[in-house]
Amino acid sequence: MKPAIPFLSLARQVEALRPRLLEAIAQVVDTQGFANGPAVARFEAELAEYLGVGHVVALNSGTSALHAALLCVDVRPGDEVITVAHTWISTAWAISYIGATPRFVDVDPRTCGMDPRALELAISPRTRAILPVHLYGQPVELRPILEIADRHGIPVVEDTAQAIGARYRGQRVGSFGRVNATSFYPAKNLGALGEGGALLTDDAEIARRAARLRDHAQAERHRHLELGFNWRMDGIQGAVLSVKLPHLDGWNSRRREIARRYLGAFAGLPRLSTLAGLPDAEPIWHVFPVFHPERDAFRARLAERGVQSGAHYPTPVHLQPAYASLGLRPGALPHTERLAATELSLPMFPELTDAEVNEVVAAVTETCRGLE
Ligand SMILES: *Cc1c(COP(=O)(O)O)cnc(C)c1O
Repeated sequence: MKPAIPFLSLARQVEALRPRLLEAIAQVVDTQGFANGPAVARFEAELAEYLGVGHVVALNSGTSALHAALLCVDVRPGDEVITVAHTWISTAWAISYIGATPRFVDVDPRTCGMDPRALELAISPRTRAILPVHLYGQPVELRPILEIADRHGIPVVEDTAQAIGARYRGQRVGSFGRVNATSFYPAKNLGALGEGGALLTDDAEIARRAARLRDHAQAERHRHLELGFNWRMDGIQGAVLSVKLPHLDGWNSRRREIARRYLGAFAGLPRLSTLAGLPDAEPIWHVFPVFHPERDAFRARLAERGVQSGAHYPTPVHLQPAYASLGLRPGALPHTERLAATELSLPMFPELTDAEVNEVVAAVTETCRGLE
């Protein structure tokens, strides 16, 4: 039997970069900048340049970056933050860590991201921040979101963990909100060899505060200005990310090429739909989602044909046991719940070969016809 086509393989990328990665790690080992340190500072400068933001503060995870971003726009206990439930749960955790309440709004099926019309209706006197998520690497409709936020004087925080390098109206996402957050979890488009994340902002004062917060809120050694954290990035991860960053655009365009092939091949297949996206956005396809009413049967048939798939995310955040206290029931967010029930994620990573992509196309086409 042929080996299965993986949903994601990190092995191929590591293999291709192995000597340079090991050399970068050895340099940190030899100079002992293990916690923050010069390799992290260099990566921060490189990423700021790449994204077109004034300041990058590297942290130990994307979850910490979201937490830090919300603290930096002064979200406080009892406040509300408007976000979406169709996301990785960290988006909501960051709100809850502060003692604020996530107010979930429904998504636009074209992007699977925050629907600006739903946002407008959810704004209340307690709204302290707006937290849209560029899920799957697909930019959300930022223009009306920023316009609504401006009108109410509420800061926007972008969760760009899955969208690093994506553009909206020609500009990189993660550079629109007051403070934004991203992740370098190994499976992300720009992945560390371990954990990592970053806060992104144009505001120098906010960047200074975030850099203090990550190091126990020290203004100077042994003087702690507020409740602090150990959110420092490993020096080794900074060095690794500097090796990988110059490859990001190439990897993302290969993902777009694979996506074009998938989109062309799947148009018109019975009961299968794909993500439409926005005309003025350039996605980076962290995940390639398709939607089918018999998702679980579909995934099982693909697996029989040697094609692995994922589901992102089968239970939306508002229906998770951890958020039962919000009292939201099935039916509260119809688009979110339908997408969560029907989504499956096809193999998508830059090192997929054309032969493998063709294999996935054949398997999806056959499965669709079989389930007609
Ligand atoms: C991965 C991810 C995060 C969290 O990042 P970690 O580095 O894993 O903590 C937050 N939001 C979204 C949408 C993510 O995909």
